[in-house]
Amino acid sequence: LHVLLVGENPASAVYVAMKIKRAEKIGIKSHVHRFSSTVTQSTLSQAIADLNANPAVDGILLQLPLPDGLNAHELLNAIDPSKDVDGLHSVNMGRLMQGKHTLAPCTPLGCMQLIHQWKHDLAGLCAVVVGRSNLVGLPLSLMLLQAGATVTICHSKTSDLVAHTLLADIVVVACGRPGLVTAAHIKPGACVIDVGINRLGDGTLVGDVDFASVAPIAGAITPVPGGVGPMTVYNLMANTLRAFKSRV
Ligand code: NAD
Repeated sequence: LHVLLVGENPASAVYVAMKIKRAEKIGIKSHVHRFSSTVTQSTLSQAIADLNANPAVDGILLQLPLPDGLNAHELLNAIDPSKDVDGLHSVNMGRLMQGKHTLAPCTPLGCMQLIHQWKHDLAGLCAVVVGRSNLVGLPLSLMLLQAGATVTICHSKTSDLVAHTLLADIVVVACGRPGLVTAAHIKPGACVIDVGINRLGDGTLVGDVDFASVAPIAGAITPVPGGVGPMTVYNLMANTLRAFKSRV
């Protein structure tokens, strides 16, 4: 597993360290390639091309976000789709849309595994995904749809968020807005998955859901930290193993 880490984003450095630590613990050899925030697009493209061509490399991960001025979309699409363990290459996103994926994005996969712990069969349930990013909200919405849920996607332009979330059996929040979702947004008994990671001024980590008010009424709820985050790392390991197996 080879990770490209660009710039000095402290959160990215922490996430990469967690991924590498887990990989080493389970016996996946890993390596971090560090680049300064002034690195050029062509240097990164060349680094990706070298990793694509290296038969000893099974997984390539470009840690996001990238510093301003770099084109993440172009770099993600430079990764060999069979080594794209984050599942963000257009080919892998397209396969996900068709329900024929092998490498799908890690965080949405983790959300689905958590939701399935709450209920195995999601057919006919109403799911609201708050957030429509390529990384989380959009692929997760497709996965929920493929599992038979009726899916509503809410985002920053949604005019009345609570009107949607209150109807939902499953609410997934992936916005990066601390306290966005409170008890007033949640139908009693609903499954609430909090993807958000926000560092407050005093250094505490919180999600997008007000855990204290929502937990008493939710049927199931994930904490931050400790809920979705570890599932993302787990799925990165699983994708790396899948990529390895598909290439041997
Ligand atoms: P993003 O900034 O790309 O997307 C945020 C989304 O939230 C957008 O679609 C936007 O429309 C929506 N949004 C913003 N404000 C809103 C509002 N007031 N009401 C409704 N929708 C609103 O972010 P992302 O990459 O999808 O990440 C979202 C959050 O999840 C961040 O906090 C990120 O750190 C976290 N995250 C966690 C993990 C994990 O493993 N736990 C993985 C990826 C991202």
